[in-house]
Amino acid sequence: MTLLAVAVGGRGLVDPDEPVLRADDEALLRGRAAFETVRVYGRRPYRLAEHLERLAQSAERIGLPAANVLELSELATQAVEAADIEDSVLRLFWTPGNGEGAPTSLALVSELPTHYDALRERGQRLIALRGIRAEEPWLLPGVKSTSYAVNIAAEAEAKRRGADDAVFVDREGVVLEGPTTNIWWRRDRTLFTPALELGILAGVTRAAVLELAGGLGYEVVEGTFPLGELAGADEAFTSSSIREVMPVTKLDERPLGRGPAADELQAALRAEATRG
Ligand code: PLP
Repeated sequence: MTLLAVAVGGRGLVDPDEPVLRADDEALLRGRAAFETVRVYGRRPYRLAEHLERLAQSAERIGLPAANVLELSELATQAVEAADIEDSVLRLFWTPGNGEGAPTSLALVSELPTHYDALRERGQRLIALRGIRAEEPWLLPGVKSTSYAVNIAAEAEAKRRGADDAVFVDREGVVLEGPTTNIWWRRDRTLFTPALELGILAGVTRAAVLELAGGLGYEVVEGTFPLGELAGADEAFTSSSIREVMPVTKLDERPLGRGPAADELQAALRAEATRG
């Protein structure tokens, strides 16, 4: 990741090579911080208000001081301006510090990964891995905290097995989400995606796809589905801020067909995000 700009609460823009957190920050000691990853299109962070709202909810559920969303929004603007490129990745963090001093707001802007358009052409291979269904409040359902080691380890395991990414299923085989994506599939003109009640993250891109699907003539059903439903779909895709809508062409050893929905939704998402 090439950092282009960093802005810190109370300090503004700082040199990206400069350290910005205390050594005893809870974010480091215990992974107790809230974060967001936002796609910037044409120097505008897409659905920033939704990301900030989710960050505020994450902070509350982790038990952090209330997030200063105004400050984070200002830092986001400063960092995006300073990065001085059209399309980028904006990361926002709200860390509690050591619990005695003030929390820290951070906005980081980095270059977009370059390989996602090629992956969209080829389609992703996913493997199903056991994940935790976060049904209890202390399992932090729907929270985007910096405790992402498990998610990244699942992605690494998928790669070790020759796939691009994982999709989590619970011990009953119910489909949940990917380590950093929401999952979708289509049968005829109906799109299916796991319900938020399963403790998955309420993806900002998921919400955008839900809105855009109707205009493209798709019905959407959110629910509790076994993996067989995904495996037997006409097509499947994932949604996330940086990878956007990404087709799935293989699940475990089973090929999945390419279809129109992923391409139509990707085009609709881009159109909405880049509209002036
Ligand atoms: N699910 C998980 C576990 C995630 O970490 C993410 C994003 O990182 C998503 C879903 C997709 O969310 P969004 O569309 O807001 O990027």
